[in-house]
Amino acid sequence: MKIALIAHDNKKQELIQFATAYKGIFKNHELFATGTTGTKITDATGLSIHRFRSGPLGGDQEIGAMIANNNMDLVIFFRDPLTAQPHEPDIIALLRLCDVYSIPLATNMGTAEILIRGLNRGDLTWRNIVSNEAGEKNGK
Ligand code: PGA
Repeated sequence: MKIALIAHDNKKQELIQFATAYKGIFKNHELFATGTTGTKITDATGLSIHRFRSGPLGGDQEIGAMIANNNMDLVIFFRDPLTAQPHEPDIIALLRLCDVYSIPLATNMGTAEILIRGLNRGDLTWRNIVSNEAGEKNGK
């Protein structure tokens, strides 16, 4: 499965802890992240992560494009609900696309734990069917 990891600055430490705790599951999947989040998680855990641009420089939109192409299976986005972000429109757009395409999305640790455990249990295998269908439509 393709998993996107994003955390705002005040939440990065929390996401690093989460990635460390569930490294055993994450290492079996294809990981993507916004720039700084990806660097910090890789440094802390050794996990291999494809890094996009930093969020404020378009990274959220790059992940959004993957969602729009049915090329992302799960999004873990630890938002900071107490700090204004310069790229708020991009954040809203990313969350919106998750809803448009029914992509499982966790915006906090409580939900992320349930999603990751569900993923490990096979609850998201329906995504393989959807991804394959999308690939066939696109001639892939
Ligand atoms: P960053 O981007 O991982 O590059 O910090 C995340 C964000 O703030 O959207």
